[in-house]
Amino acid sequence: MLDTLKRPVRDLRISVTDRCNFRCSYCMPKEIFNREYEFLGRDLLLTFEEISRVAGILVERGVEKIRLTGGEPLLRVELEKLVEMLASLGDIDLTITTNGSLLERKAEVLAAAGLSRVTVSLDSLDDAVFRAMNDVDFPVTRVLDGIEAAAAAGLGPVKVNAVVKRGVNDHTLVEMARHFQGSGHILRFIEYMDVGATNGWRLDDVVPAAEIVQTINAALPCEPVKANYPGEVARRYRYVDGSGEFGVIASVTQPFCGSCTRLRLSAEGSLYTCLFATEGHDIRQLLRSEADDIAIGEFVDGVWNGRTDRYSEIRSSETRDLPKVEMSYIGG
Ligand code: SAM
Ligand code: SF4
Ligand code: SF4
Repeated sequence: MLDTLKRPVRDLRISVTDRCNFRCSYCMPKEIFNREYEFLGRDLLLTFEEISRVAGILVERGVEKIRLTGGEPLLRVELEKLVEMLASLGDIDLTITTNGSLLERKAEVLAAAGLSRVTVSLDSLDDAVFRAMNDVDFPVTRVLDGIEAAAAAGLGPVKVNAVVKRGVNDHTLVEMARHFQGSGHILRFIEYMDVGATNGWRLDDVVPAAEIVQTINAALPCEPVKANYPGEVARRYRYVDGSGEFGVIASVTQPFCGSCTRLRLSAEGSLYTCLFATEGHDIRQLLRSEADDIAIGEFVDGVWNGRTDRYSEIRSSETRDLPKVEMSYIGG
């Protein structure tokens, strides 16, 4: 199955909830995601059976990696049941992206259910900086405990994602790199992206990946390493003293749409062919109809075959003003 730019579908990102217990200012700013904000009702969310059915159809079409995300995926009750169902679909790399707040409690049960690995988001090790960024006063130590619990449960190497925002956490990058150097966990710095419409993104707030690498290199000499596989999103660097590696994800300054093989399924059952898509393709209606797997498969084929997305490559002031969906809804 190829899209109009000859890209196959390989990765499926499934958002299991649009809710979160954090209010990271770059993702779910408090001014918008407050008491009045209407999150999806229970009946609108895909059930685990519906999610597994879509995933199975996509695995038949070439999907090799499935990532559970959100919102905060660990807020979805009994997520381990979904993990178990997805793990039974075959030989897939099954991962989760989480803010880590509930990981200490959940790591073992997720590993037992068949999860392959976890990615934990942690933007700074400076407690004051981190508490301000998550905007719910959540301490660094509890996320670090979650990372260790995941590694102990066999869900490592843990990838640790840090979004870098100028003037907010860019003075704490070297401290982070030092902490994770030699730990066996892999730190990745992410350029702040213009996803959604609520975070007030400005290009001036982006710290380009090249600048991030320069900053790290000045303190901890490093050199580029070849990608693990073609189309790997993070650019890898290794410390010259042999103490491990880190990565940078340069979605803004060095876009990688040409090798983008990702399809997203929102919590309420819409397929999105790009993180910056303005609209999705409703599959829930089909799932709740008499349609059989062949009909649903044909729908999925149509969505992917018609895919033209390359937003990050054509990003401009014009595209920036389009009504994009929120990251917390579509899943990061
Ligand atoms: N709540 C989970 C978490 O934070 O890991 C999963 C969902 S979150 C939307 C997925 C990832 O997207 C996180 O690593 C987060 O830091 C990243 N993210 C959110 N908004 C972003 C933005 N504007 N630019 C870059 N990354 C962003
Ligand atoms: Fe929640 Fe993750 Fe968004 Fe932060 S980045 S508000 S933890 S969904
Ligand atoms: Fe893929 Fe869209 Fe991101 Fe380009 S902008 S890499 S097409 S998700």
